[in-house]
Amino acid sequence: MKTVDEVWQLLRNEVTAREAVETELADALGGVLREDVRSPEDQPAFDRSAVDGYVVRADDASEVFAVGGEIRAGDGRHPQLVAGKALRIATGAAVPEDGEVIMLEDATESDGAVRFVRRGRDHVRRRGEDARSGTVLVRAGTVLGTGAVGLLASIGCVRPMVTRAIDALHVATGNEIVSADKVPSAGQVRDSNSPLVAAWARAAGMRIRQKRVGEDASALRHAVEGRRDLLLVSGGASVGGHDCTAEVLEAAGFELLVTKVAVRPGKPLIVARRGVEWAFGLPGNPLSHFVCLHVFVEAALAAMRGGPRRPVMGNRRVEAAIPGNPRETWWPAVEEREGLRPLSWTSSGDLAALALADALVRVPSSGLAAGSEAEFIRTP
Ligand code: AMP
Ligand code: MG
Repeated sequence: MKTVDEVWQLLRNEVTAREAVETELADALGGVLREDVRSPEDQPAFDRSAVDGYVVRADDASEVFAVGGEIRAGDGRHPQLVAGKALRIATGAAVPEDGEVIMLEDATESDGAVRFVRRGRDHVRRRGEDARSGTVLVRAGTVLGTGAVGLLASIGCVRPMVTRAIDALHVATGNEIVSADKVPSAGQVRDSNSPLVAAWARAAGMRIRQKRVGEDASALRHAVEGRRDLLLVSGGASVGGHDCTAEVLEAAGFELLVTKVAVRPGKPLIVARRGVEWAFGLPGNPLSHFVCLHVFVEAALAAMRGGPRRPVMGNRRVEAAIPGNPRETWWPAVEEREGLRPLSWTSSGDLAALALADALVRVPSSGLAAGSEAEFIRTP
């Protein structure tokens, strides 16, 4: 039986990043950038006015200036600055080399003449003050957020190199499972794991194909034929006579690296590898799914993307005591201003706690006292 840390270490060391591809900026949000992006020019590229106002020669100490034209944003050429004259200037417009910008609020204009109540404030964004040409603006390995997309656009990097989409398949197994839109007959249960997996994948920024098969090795073997980066099989991961995930994965050429993890819930987790492909056999219970997806599959996905480690571990106080167990527990909780409020759950099939949970608290085997600091992860 492996510990949680051992499984993380395995995934972080062994799962390799997929190829980077040129990606349209419109599709790059959430993608992992795979090259350092440098500024191709000084930022800003020219001296720009930071305000709406006037521009005069910096060395001109006249009391009154004649207003002699204007420089608008986007103007490539502008009138010369001459002694005794002021030009109106707009925010973002190019400032002439020897110009001083005075903001509108510091000026009074009447009958074509302008006086300034204040001079000498620097209202110019100087060429290169944000970044010099050649400076790295976004590092390889960054997950592109909305701001990074804007920045890349501003420097003309409209096709950044981003890790390609991960190809994933999820197969739900079990004779008792029926589609969630069907009314189950006696002995049947609705398939809640497929929508849960799809929702998790969506929150992780990944599309996943899905299939459902009965508890039958040949049907599962058929369902998992072919290649992809990531294969998830729900149910059939433990040691019951009809649990065939391990057998089917082995027959398909996967090497079983983990078959049990010292974690609660989620102990009968299978982790397997075939070359660069990875497969997870997830124990069927919904709460086990929730834990295994957020704690383990998330780590594999992050490594495939070549981005920062996931899950991201935080530290907060728990508002109530949580009992320990020989296996470390990942306990559903709600993140509140005061700390983490543990939810009560009856079994690993308990979906009511899941519906409220936005965090999982890592509970060591000694348990946690009320008010103590604990590690946790957020679970969107
Ligand atoms: P298994 O891992 O196949 O032994 O399943 C463990 C428990 O999880 C059983 O009670 C199953 O009925 C339940 N289960 C398995 N798959 C699903 C599913 N897709 N949706 C809801 N419950 C499931
Ligand atoms: Mg089953």
